[in-house]
Amino acid sequence: MATATKEIKKPAELPAPNSDFYGLVETLPADDLAVVKQVRTFMETKVAPIITKYWIEDAFPFELLPGLKELNIGGVGLEGYGCKGGGGLLAGLVAMEMGRIDASISTFFGVHSGLAMSSIYYGGSEEQKQKWLPPMARMEKIGCFGLTEPLVGSGASGGLTTTAKREGDTWTINGQKKWIGNSPWCDISIIWARDLADNQVKGFIVENKTTPGFKVEKIQNKIALKVVQNGLITMENCRIPEENRLQVDTSFRDTAKVLRGTRYFVGWEATGCAMGAYENALKYAQERLQFGKPIGSFQLIQDLLSRMLANITAAQCLLVRLAQLEAEGKMTDAHAALSKAFCTSKCRESVAWAREICGGNGIAADYNVGRFFADSEALYTYEGTFQMQNMIVGKAVTGLSAFL
Ligand SMILES: Cc1cc2nc3c(=O)[nH]c(=O)nc-3n(C[C@H](O)[C@H](O)[C@H](O)COP(=O)(O)OP(=O)(O)OC[C@H]3O[C@@H](n4cnc5c(N)ncnc54)[C@H](O)[C@@H]3O)c2cc1C
Repeated sequence: MATATKEIKKPAELPAPNSDFYGLVETLPADDLAVVKQVRTFMETKVAPIITKYWIEDAFPFELLPGLKELNIGGVGLEGYGCKGGGGLLAGLVAMEMGRIDASISTFFGVHSGLAMSSIYYGGSEEQKQKWLPPMARMEKIGCFGLTEPLVGSGASGGLTTTAKREGDTWTINGQKKWIGNSPWCDISIIWARDLADNQVKGFIVENKTTPGFKVEKIQNKIALKVVQNGLITMENCRIPEENRLQVDTSFRDTAKVLRGTRYFVGWEATGCAMGAYENALKYAQERLQFGKPIGSFQLIQDLLSRMLANITAAQCLLVRLAQLEAEGKMTDAHAALSKAFCTSKCRESVAWAREICGGNGIAADYNVGRFFADSEALYTYEGTFQMQNMIVGKAVTGLSAFL
């Protein structure tokens, strides 16, 4: 018996995926727009073609470092000392563009240019800033930020076990730091330790390659941000000169000031990660045929795509307002915490829908979406978990602290 064969056809011209639905980037001044476009081109042409291979191999793409240096974006958002400058909005959009192609590259950059450089920028003396920031801005020296410990994560504000003891002009540091991004290969570690004399947290600039007693083991078998090299640092009687103690910092409040800025940055990064997953999933939905039609023509798939785009657009709009608050010097810890919690949780929701749209292929690294899906888990947790951010907000709005 003859069976009717349906013609499998897809429409010729479909709109190109665009996750900037409200035209956010078009509102930028020309100079900033040029930087964002430069970063986008670098990420699309140099990073995208090779990054999955490195992700699978758990390896950092050192071949990208010269190109990253040429972008001249080290210290974006920070003024002077060779830094790129440009304000918080530009810094955020750079993070978003990086995250849109790969969250590991934006994390590597965020740890170096955000966490490590701004620790020195906000906590260092004039002399320290002059000495350390220019080579870091040129990305000749790469930094990391060592706060978390094997036994102390969320409770770092009150419970650091790494100690610093001063004798004359030398400090002796003992302890361990866990999860420290870039630490297995970078040059400069910002180490946070509890001063045995006054029990306050102080920051130290440690030259890890030349400091006796400083050891780093690479953390193996991660399922997220596999390109970023995270380390377990062990410090045994590391002797650090007083001139390497961050001179302006006196307590954990100063560390929190750095985290406020970098949590803002992670909100952008997570939004970029959701954008990348959305664009890949949309393209897949336009091309993948089932029942003789592109799956993107099915109502339930379109529903997921619109929900993702709404999450992304809401996060972008929230972040632009936060950038305005930051520019006016009004961004509080709670403002930054709200955006970190919201943007990373909406990212996590969106990448799961992107993975769903790609069906079985969604769990294969070859289709990109699987990588965004896994990486979002780390964004949701690092630099303070979802719960910790919400308790920072909770404390601000109730006047009651749930944790300290
Ligand atoms: C990929 C990656 C990169 C990282 N990079 C760095 C880095 O470069 N530098 C650095 O210093 N750290 C880094 N971290 C560490 C990161 O900041 C911590 O993992 C994070 O702060 C959480 O700490 P924890 O893992 O010890 O979890 P825990 O603090 O043990 O928390 C476990 C769970 O308990 C919840 N919890 C804890 N306390 C409370 C409470 N009071 N009420 C309710 N729930 C609570 C948490 O929300 C979480 O869900 C990185 C982590 C990862 C995964």
